[in-house]
Amino acid sequence: MTKPTQSGTILDNYDLSKNNTMALSCTASHAMILDNADTLADDIRLAIDFAKHRQLATFVLSGGSNVLLPRRLDALVLLPRLLGIEVLSESDDGITIQVACGENWHDFIKTCLNHGWYGLENLALIPGLVGASPVQNIGAYGVQVSDFIEKVIAFDLADGSQISFDNSSCEFDYRHSFFKDNPNRHLISHVVFKLHKTCDQVLTSYGDLSTVSGDIAKAHGRNTPHPCDVFDAVVQIRQAKLPDPNVLANCGSFFQNPIITMADFTRLKATFADLPSYPIDDDFIKIPAGWLIDKAGLKGKGIAPILTHQKQALVLTNHAPYIATQDDIATAQAFIIKTVFERFGVTLVREPVWVDEKGTTPT
Ligand SMILES: Cc1cc2nc3c(=O)[nH]c(=O)nc-3n(C[C@H](O)[C@H](O)[C@H](O)COP(=O)(O)OP(=O)(O)OC[C@H]3O[C@@H](n4cnc5c(N)ncnc54)[C@H](O)[C@@H]3O)c2cc1C
Repeated sequence: MTKPTQSGTILDNYDLSKNNTMALSCTASHAMILDNADTLADDIRLAIDFAKHRQLATFVLSGGSNVLLPRRLDALVLLPRLLGIEVLSESDDGITIQVACGENWHDFIKTCLNHGWYGLENLALIPGLVGASPVQNIGAYGVQVSDFIEKVIAFDLADGSQISFDNSSCEFDYRHSFFKDNPNRHLISHVVFKLHKTCDQVLTSYGDLSTVSGDIAKAHGRNTPHPCDVFDAVVQIRQAKLPDPNVLANCGSFFQNPIITMADFTRLKATFADLPSYPIDDDFIKIPAGWLIDKAGLKGKGIAPILTHQKQALVLTNHAPYIATQDDIATAQAFIIKTVFERFGVTLVREPVWVDEKGTTPT
């Protein structure tokens, strides 16, 4: 059961400064918290009517860990906060659960492990809420959430109808989905996951996860890592290199890893012999944006208050919580893109969602 607060009420001049992990100053002209499952469909219809009447866009905001908000947002911001985890079916090997959009992602994984439901442990410590997880098909350490999603239940924000998307209709791809390609069109209310109940399918081949989870397993007297060991290892690795948004405001990886042609790669490699790479196919290859920023001399630098992180140059951090604005981000972003281009001839592309004053999301 969800515990209603002011679900379905239109709130004016709503402060979102503490609802985005980059800690950008932002006030929405209108907002609506959706935390009551019983009135959800009616509340969404009311929101749609209100927005149409005022000629406002609707914008869905969950944990705010992948968005860059403007100082003033003239839109109706929908804040989905439904809670609840329901078991739909279960066998000896697996379980299917329906999870409400407002559950905290990391806490949800902990709950799964406590119940003996496995698979999502590699995705520990990714900030945000469950409802946002399908949008960019979150992924880490060789796992993406789409591997475990059976269904996504959403409301169409044009007419308020409810739609159920099976895995293939979500059009999942690397950090992509139908929902990302069609921004502001749906509000995801629930995600249905299919998880393992056996603990022999851990995936530890990515980076240093094998060593760290192996050490943790040994310390527990196990020969091979249990999913809980993998969870602990992921937390340990991430805490060592990524800033905690509750301590230092940031929105994770700020730039996508560029995919360049083999010809460009050969040209770069002639000058920068240590340039790392991840082959895509015969014609294209991926190179790490963090490496380019670091080698361009920008680790720990930027344009104050927005600086790259000392331990991971791919992460932009805000050193002026609740004072910085989207303009500060734009300035630092332009400086980094220009510096990297001048050094390598490669154009970096931003990853987090840029939200403009009208609540739309230009690329
Ligand atoms: C320190 C840090 C580390 C991170 N590490 C990773 C990582 O390893 N892997 C990774 O993939 N990502 C990572 N991220 C990015 C981010 O955490 C994820 O994209 C996360 O899923 C965003 O969730 P959120 O609730 O904060 O969404 P928000 O930032 O609120 O929203 C993101 C987008 O999804 C839409 N949206 C949100 N909720 C809904 C909904 N219920 N229905 C419809 N649309 C919705 C929004 O409109 C917006 O376009 C990281 C971020 C940080 C700050």
